[in-house]
Amino acid sequence: MSSLTTGLRRWRQRFDALFQDHEIFVRTHGHVRFLRVSAVWQKRVALIAGAVLLVWAGVTLTVFVNQLLTAGERAEVARKEAAAAAGEARIAQYRDRVAEIAADLDERQAQLEEWKDTYFGSEALPADAAPKAGAKDAAEAKPVETSALDPRLPPEAQALARIEARQEAFSAHLLAAVDARALKARDAIAKLGLDPKTLVRKASVGQGGPFIPWRGRIGRASALGESFAALEGALFRMEVLERTLVAIPSGQPAHVLMLSSSYGYRHDPFTGASAMHAGLDFPGPLGTPILAAAPGRVTFVGRRSGYGNVVEVDHGQGIMTRYAHLSGFNTSVGARVAAGQQIAKMGSTGRSTGSHLHFEVRLNGVAVNPRRFLEAKADVLEVKADARQRVGALARADGASRAR
Ligand SMILES: [Zn+2]
Repeated sequence: MSSLTTGLRRWRQRFDALFQDHEIFVRTHGHVRFLRVSAVWQKRVALIAGAVLLVWAGVTLTVFVNQLLTAGERAEVARKEAAAAAGEARIAQYRDRVAEIAADLDERQAQLEEWKDTYFGSEALPADAAPKAGAKDAAEAKPVETSALDPRLPPEAQALARIEARQEAFSAHLLAAVDARALKARDAIAKLGLDPKTLVRKASVGQGGPFIPWRGRIGRASALGESFAALEGALFRMEVLERTLVAIPSGQPAHVLMLSSSYGYRHDPFTGASAMHAGLDFPGPLGTPILAAAPGRVTFVGRRSGYGNVVEVDHGQGIMTRYAHLSGFNTSVGARVAAGQQIAKMGSTGRSTGSHLHFEVRLNGVAVNPRRFLEAKADVLEVKADARQRVGALARADGASRAR
């Protein structure tokens, strides 16, 4: 016999011992009845009761477990909902900023393209446009830093950040090209004997010319891209310098030799007294063509005391030329003249001892010695010709937009 069988039998014996046959006497109205509760019947009842109890326990447990699970699920769902709501709020907050940044980028792109078209046309930006060292005065270029977008921004915004970086790189390139050109013009002006700093400062005060400064959205735009912010000033400086360079009358006013020693204090040919001679004299045959020394607009045609017949041309940037002692005119007030265009004929009117041109250059009303302008070296003239082409294109664009 195995020990298992033995054990089971022992349990069976204990179980059987719990249930004994019982006999119960019941007396009702004097009659005595005899009830017998058998052990078998007791066992059946006990088994049924046990089974019921077991079923109840099972159901209860199931319900309880279910409840636990549902509570857990609910908590999970609630947690997810809360996260979604928070995310949505964050996205809504970002969406406004993303839209704002996108609008700024869009506007800046349009402005950059306009600047590029206006000042460089179809020519490609020079690859080596980085401003030279020691050119701080003209360049004042700052190291380019791409402003980082908010790192908490969702991934969609990172695409904007990439666009911004590219835009900033283009903007920096444009700035370098502008600075390089401004530097060229500045050097040429300095070689012609004028002070570029003063000219730019005076132009800034006057804000003359057709330059339309960037009046874009303040706010994010100013915080974005340093080079973009620097461009406006750089473009203004470049335009002033180039316009000034073009306005400097370096063209020969007559194809005759000038008396290069005639500017300054000298003996007045009429009184013999020491007097300031504010121009250069060009002796030559009567009727020699007199040419505009720079492009500009004729502001005076007529007689002036002492000067005789005079033509005056305004070249912009505070620069004016005067041609005196003329014998005839080939232009009229208000006419636009090109450099080298004939405006008059040489003569000897006014206080003149013989046929000659008296040529004067005035910068903001003050006479300056034109000799350095007329003796400009080829390299300067080359820069000047480049600038003239660009400013000419600008003027044409300006004229076209005005005509519209
Ligand atoms: Zn003179």
